[in-house]
Amino acid sequence: MKRIVITGACGQIAYSLIFKIANGDLFGQEEIALHLLEVKEMENAMHGLLMEIEDCCFPLLKEVKAGFDPLEMFNDVDVAILVGAKPRGPGMERKDLLLDNGKIFLEQGKALNKVAKKDVKILVVGNPCNTNCLIAMHNAPNIPKENFYAMTRLDQNRAQSQLAKKASISLDKVSNVTIWGNHSTTQVPDFMNALIDKKSVLEVIKDKQWLENTFMQVVQKRGSEIIAKRGKSSAASAAQAIVDTLKSLYTSSKKLFSLAVCSDKNSYGIKEDLIFSFPCFSLGNGRYKIIDNIKVDNFLREKITISEKELLEEKSLVKHLFPNEEVD
Ligand code: NDP
Repeated sequence: MKRIVITGACGQIAYSLIFKIANGDLFGQEEIALHLLEVKEMENAMHGLLMEIEDCCFPLLKEVKAGFDPLEMFNDVDVAILVGAKPRGPGMERKDLLLDNGKIFLEQGKALNKVAKKDVKILVVGNPCNTNCLIAMHNAPNIPKENFYAMTRLDQNRAQSQLAKKASISLDKVSNVTIWGNHSTTQVPDFMNALIDKKSVLEVIKDKQWLENTFMQVVQKRGSEIIAKRGKSSAASAAQAIVDTLKSLYTSSKKLFSLAVCSDKNSYGIKEDLIFSFPCFSLGNGRYKIIDNIKVDNFLREKITISEKELLEEKSLVKHLFPNEEVD
């Protein structure tokens, strides 16, 4: 049985995600136990959510626990999906968001370190997800660094879908789409190494101008465009991307997918000790390997460096949230 905790359980993303996981969309026929973590203010909403889960009669769902204490909710979990985070309020700067949310991930890192299974796998979705993940990782020294990851799969899915649409081809013919860097507007959707029907994208789409400008910007700004149109964020596609990420990680395969992971010892010259999105393949059971031989030309390198710089800046703002002995 897989024991899975979802934080921010009463939020928008979780409202799609919980029902997918409970239905078996992630771990197939394996039985599951769900732990749902929220803040105390959501107590009433949590009661309603539990009623709906009950009413679905999911056959694979053997246990549901809900609560407000990370130490209780993270106990003995195999998988932690950290979605809960404060949204950016009016007039709030990126720095304020980093500091506010950073404290949540410090506490959650410590709690995971103390009570989760020692081989727990942790996927961070709450924004700014790369740096939140780095904070949690630093505060959980007993959990291997490679068990922490942040989500860039929605960006990959968006890029894949845009390329398929432009080439008028079915989605499954588009592969090797990598997102490099931070899950922010500096992310780098890599079309150069992507394939359409096993041919290079430039060979099929030919319109370099569109690829270098329109395509990249559409992917980078897709989230805010959806908010502008719908008046709400892209929660359903985020939930789908969480399922896609974990499914990829738990199914051993040589297929490339994007994942933000610890940059230690990477072969692309990215500074160590960042959570950085790379092309990966799955070793199964939540383990991955960064693919080493992707070609990075000057155009990509320049953009990747900008994203790396942003992550270094974010890190410098939250360094005080790492355990004392690490602060320089
Ligand atoms: P959502 O469920 O919509 O989003 C949660 C987080 O996921 C946000 O940080 C959001 O970032 C991020 N995110 C990443 N990718 C996407 C995407 N594609 N689309 C939308 N969001 C994305 O937020 P809600 O405000 O509805 O719910 C958050 C819940 O978390 C609330 O119920 C709150 O009470 C709870 N919470 C729980 C905590 C805990 O468990 N300890 C701590 C803090 C809050 P962005 O804001 O940039 O969109």
